[in-house]
Amino acid sequence: MFSLLRRNRKQQCRLAVLVFHRVIDGTPLPFGPEKTCSLPSDNFARILEHLSHTFHVFNAADLRSALEGHQPRFPEGVLLTFDDGFADNAELAAPLLIKNGIEALLFAATGYIDGTAEPYEYVLARHLATHGDGPVVVDGIEYARARDAYDAVRSALKKMPRAERDETWRRLRQEFPAMESPHLLTWSQLRDFQEKGPFAVESHGVHHAVLAGEERGELAVQLRDSRQRISEQTGRLPTLISYPYGAANSSVHRAARRAGYRAGFTTEPVVNNLATCNPFALGRFAGESERLLEARSLDDIASLLAPSAQKGVRCQPS
Ligand SMILES: [Zn+2]
Repeated sequence: MFSLLRRNRKQQCRLAVLVFHRVIDGTPLPFGPEKTCSLPSDNFARILEHLSHTFHVFNAADLRSALEGHQPRFPEGVLLTFDDGFADNAELAAPLLIKNGIEALLFAATGYIDGTAEPYEYVLARHLATHGDGPVVVDGIEYARARDAYDAVRSALKKMPRAERDETWRRLRQEFPAMESPHLLTWSQLRDFQEKGPFAVESHGVHHAVLAGEERGELAVQLRDSRQRISEQTGRLPTLISYPYGAANSSVHRAARRAGYRAGFTTEPVVNNLATCNPFALGRFAGESERLLEARSLDDIASLLAPSAQKGVRCQPS
């Protein structure tokens, strides 16, 4: 009995995973992902300092080891992740991570890296913000406020299967050809991360599609091709995926397992117990909040960042 209890205690591993997207200098836009999913670099610096002084910070090796059932270095801790693959991750986030001795996971949408896909939410919001928040016409429809147009167009695009969405976006994009895409990471930068840190590069699919909305063949392509591409370009085969928009269901979990992944991340804001949870449904909290500075425990993170305590601030794009 004693040894059983001891073994159970050993297997406990509670992990609060935080998801970030962009670290920026300057003022974010008044709406869209640059508002909800960006963190000014000085805030990010304060958050890192607080986390590294208050919690055990897991790295990729700690996570992989714990998922394989090995005794973790720490019984509980936090893990930092970045989604998508924006250039500011290298320019602004990486130096701060290095300064604090933190290794994070970077989930790259491979289509963003090689230019075959565009982070359309950012382009759309930037274009609409040039109208202030006044009336605007998109695709022949008039909206009273630019932010209403953003919400309506984004929501419609997000619901479409990937091929239809790409086609629709190509058409809409012609309305604002001069608007630049935000800068994204390059394969050369991802290779450097893989070799020297401070990021371990993992998968976020290819085209940033809602995987749960895709047919089986397209789902397999998104899971397999992103993994293969990262392997070819960086020399390491990813074993982890974060689902675009945090959205997955049991079919996606099974397909991810078949494609060779060992675990998958959602944006369900829960603390994971790695000993008992489904490794393909790991929760994450949106990290782009100064509330993190008040957290002294994993339960604090849950109560400070869970949706009920953070109404309307949950990060949308993931
Ligand atoms: Zn994403």
